Amino acid sequence: MSEQVEQREFQAEARQLLQLMVHSIYSDKDSFLRELVSNASDALDKLRLEAFRNKDLDVDTSDLHIDIDTDATARTLTIRDNGIGMTRDEVVELIGTLAKSGTAELRQKLREANQAGDTEELIGQFGIGFYSTFMVADRVDLVTRKAGESTATRWESSGDGTYTIAELDDAPQGTSVTLHLKPEDADDELHDYTAPWKIRQLVKKYSDFISWPIRMEVEKTVPAEEDGGEPTVTVETETINSRTALWARPKSEVSDEEYAQFYKHVAHAWDEPLEVIAMKAEGTFEHQALLFIPSQAPFDLFNRDGHAGVQLYVKRVFIMGDCDELMPEYLRFVKGVVDAQDMSLNVSREILQQDRQIKVIRRSLTKKVLSAIKDLQSDRPDDYTTFWTQFGRVFKEGLLSDADNRDTVLRLSSFATTFSDDAPTTLADYIGRMKDDQEQIYYATGESRQLLERSPHLEAFKAKGYEVLLLTDPVDEVWVESVPEFEGKALQSVAKGEVDLGASDDDQSEQGDFADLLTWLQETLDEHVKEVRLSTRLTSSPACLITDTFGITPQLARMYRASGQEVPVGKRILELNPDHPLVTGLRDALASSKDGLADTAELLYGAALLAEGGALDDPARFASLLADRLAKTV
Ligand code: ADP
Ligand code: MG
Repeated sequence: MSEQVEQREFQAEARQLLQLMVHSIYSDKDSFLRELVSNASDALDKLRLEAFRNKDLDVDTSDLHIDIDTDATARTLTIRDNGIGMTRDEVVELIGTLAKSGTAELRQKLREANQAGDTEELIGQFGIGFYSTFMVADRVDLVTRKAGESTATRWESSGDGTYTIAELDDAPQGTSVTLHLKPEDADDELHDYTAPWKIRQLVKKYSDFISWPIRMEVEKTVPAEEDGGEPTVTVETETINSRTALWARPKSEVSDEEYAQFYKHVAHAWDEPLEVIAMKAEGTFEHQALLFIPSQAPFDLFNRDGHAGVQLYVKRVFIMGDCDELMPEYLRFVKGVVDAQDMSLNVSREILQQDRQIKVIRRSLTKKVLSAIKDLQSDRPDDYTTFWTQFGRVFKEGLLSDADNRDTVLRLSSFATTFSDDAPTTLADYIGRMKDDQEQIYYATGESRQLLERSPHLEAFKAKGYEVLLLTDPVDEVWVESVPEFEGKALQSVAKGEVDLGASDDDQSEQGDFADLLTWLQETLDEHVKEVRLSTRLTSSPACLITDTFGITPQLARMYRASGQEVPVGKRILELNPDHPLVTGLRDALASSKDGLADTAELLYGAALLAEGGALDDPARFASLLADRLAKTV
């Protein structure tokens, strides 16, 4: 029946991941069944929706279900659905390839994980689905026919680097996956998956909530009649899942394990949920929601497409996955289900974008998630730390995008600080530690902690014992521009505007002493700086560069440029350390002769730029000035 059989190779990343599964020491091998049932259930959801939208599609959707067949003699297990099915191209793309959306990230993560040898974590990050079958099977056959098409496709693989694919003339619509099971091995947690009781147990454990019937043929023995005769054995088809929506059950009656399995199904994830949020809103826009905060970020968290977020149901019927309208983008790590009561089953993405009801629901979900994070922060510090390490960078986007909740988001955020080498601080804790004479919350932005800690901007803050927040995520550059204060304390960059770090009374006279130097430097460096003034920020460096209070920092300008926007970078201010011998020396030299001093001025400026991690406009010129100068001293 089958025509040409073609052999193909898995895409490189897919092959690596597959290898990982085949040789996995992952103990929970049973979970392959959850993955297959989950895929079948998704396929049925998709078909129901497609039939609803496309009236020309000629399919019978009156009896959508999942069948599980076992064959103890052949040692096979088959999971069959009459759902949407796949075309040949889809099989190649969906089963033979991995994560179109984030291949670069995927490669990077695979490299890291291979080095660290941490399979468990890797499995968590990738949410390995179909490939998990190779934990329990030597060979997997998949036969599928897409709804509305006449030819079918057969796919086969032993989980090595290749698979075969062939066209079939005939097959039922939908997908059937047959596992040729590895030998039973209790030590390796490989059970007998041909035993109906085992399948029943696993379905109960992993997939009981699936809304479609999961059916299995069971043998029933009818006892012999009283007047003699043989007992008869009949085969009946039985539905083995209860099909109750988990979100419709009271929280007290659902076990953590059930929530965890449901999370893995909706999120296509393999990690454990960090927090379960169940809510029910009555009144005008009645809805129920079951949301999860994962414990591990997927590898493509920063890739905005290609993540299964929140699913929308209407009156228990699946409407769409990845419903962006239900959750703000900075909470895109939240997974789960929202079931709305008074919405049309016909609702489309276009309608959702305008829908008032959705906006109300989204507001209430946002509040609920923020309050769950608040509870983590106050009651479960370790879990809060996990949350922050995994999702903090994304969460901080809310400081920019969610003006209504900005204060809450700020309160729930943590920041690296000079106070501790490794533990981040909340702003509330920072304020608790502020010095008596300190009025502002100080922060520094830059590429890395190391760079910031050594930057001249921090010197006097360190010397005076003021704590400084060290903000090194790209998003930090941006949000600090739009968050002026927290609890009445202004946020102040150590590299911007004026800071008054205990200027003394003889300041004015000191300024006078340096007046000639300041004027001369201003003229000499006019191309680079708009002002030269004395600093209270410096203790050991001779000079540093400061951005105006409302000016754009070089880092921010770089970010804009990277995203294709050109922003004018104004000239900055050069601040001098009046106690540094180079500065006093320059002042004294200037009084006698200006010979060669212009080069010194340029070196001074260049050094200030380098010290903050900046890039010189003309490094070759700087190097030659420096070499000339050094030549005079050797
Ligand atoms: P995920 O479910 O997270 O996308 P899987 O590895 O489980 O990852 O499956 C990969 C893809 O293969 C699915 O997204 C789906 O498009 C397709 N697929 C798998 N099983 C089926 C099925 N039974 N019917 C239709 N499509 C399927
Ligand atoms: Mg899947």
